[in-house]
Amino acid sequence: MKIVYEPKKCIGCGICASTSPAHFKMNKDNKAELIKGKKVKDNCELEIKEETQEIKDAVNMCPVQCFKIVK
Ligand code: SF4
Repeated sequence: MKIVYEPKKCIGCGICASTSPAHFKMNKDNKAELIKGKKVKDNCELEIKEETQEIKDAVNMCPVQCFKIVK
């Protein structure tokens, strides 16, 4: 299972980073980053063992749908 993140869509609201600081952080350009994620083409991906409630909340609260959970 993995989180797929499309950085181009990010509007820098910071919700993901404040909801799940273990997985998301804001960078100096005020864009979200997936902590320990790897770059795959234009996206960033992070393997996860399970979709915790915290991850679900962060993914669902992004106002511009930057994230997808791929199983
Ligand atoms: S919630 Fe979405 S728009 Fe807001 S900082 Fe995170 S990725 Fe960017």
